[in-house]
Amino acid sequence: MEVLDKQQIQSLQEKLLRLQTELKEHLDISKQAAGVVTLDQTAVGRVSRMDAMQQQSMAKSTREKASNKLKKVRAALQAIADKDYGYCRKCDELIAFKRLQAQPEAQLCIHCQDTVDRQQ
Ligand SMILES: [Zn+2]
Repeated sequence: MEVLDKQQIQSLQEKLLRLQTELKEHLDISKQAAGVVTLDQTAVGRVSRMDAMQQQSMAKSTREKASNKLKKVRAALQAIADKDYGYCRKCDELIAFKRLQAQPEAQLCIHCQDTVDRQQ
C-alpha cells in the first residue's frame, strides 16, 4: 500500500501549523472588525447602512469559511498525530501528495471531492 513518507508528512504538518496560525489570527482580527460595525440609523444614511450590512454579512461568511477551514486543519493535525493522515474519508485511498500540498487539510481524494462538488 502506498504511504506518505516522513518528510512529506513533516512538510505538510508545517503547512498545517502555519495555516492554523493564520486562520486563528484572521478570526481574531475579523471578530474585532465585526464589533466595530454599527447599524445606527441616525448616524448613517440608507445606502451606507446597506453597505455596512453587506460588508457585515460578507465578513460573516468569510469568518464562517475560515472557521470551517480551521476545523479541517485541526482534524488533519490530529490525523497526523494518530498516523491516519492523507487518506480519503470516503474511499480510503491515499490522497495524492500534490493535492495535499495545495490543500493539506483536504479530507477527500480528488475523485470523491469531484463527486461531492457535483452533488451540491
Ligand atoms: Zn476518495
